Amino acid sequence: MGYDVHRLAEGRRLVIGGVEIPFEKGLLGHSDADVLLHALCDALLGAAGMGDIGLHFPDTDPAYAGIDSMELLDRVRNLIREKGYAIVNADATVYAQAPKIAPHREKMQERIGARLGLPRDRINIKATTTEGLGPMGRGEGIGAMCAVLLEEIKPPSDR
Ligand code: MG
Repeated sequence: MGYDVHRLAEGRRLVIGGVEIPFEKGLLGHSDADVLLHALCDALLGAAGMGDIGLHFPDTDPAYAGIDSMELLDRVRNLIREKGYAIVNADATVYAQAPKIAPHREKMQERIGARLGLPRDRINIKATTTEGLGPMGRGEGIGAMCAVLLEEIKPPSDR
């Protein structure tokens, strides 16, 4: 499982699940702050027993400043494969009071699926508001949670 939250700020692009969404604010972060891809990367690394995104791509490293999080996802996918795992599916929920995520969901699923070499229906993206409650409900930030299933393609002895 993976979980991430980023603060919304003016003067930033809003990129979620690799899709730029027109909105008055964007997510603040060292990279492009794609909260959904970060939750997905953390879920993948966690399932493979490989720590988390901050361990592999520290936000103190200038190499990752403004980086497209799809590139981080590519690297995570490669790490997982090298360790002998294949990705079966991913299921995520985005927490946002606004904007509406649903109109962009299919594109996100397609882009993430293409990057991971999986059909779109193996990447499920859901979205919810928090009914106006808490920081996400007040529009201060956007959160995402993700669960993934990995399958072993190499026995532990071959790793
Ligand atoms: Mg993050």
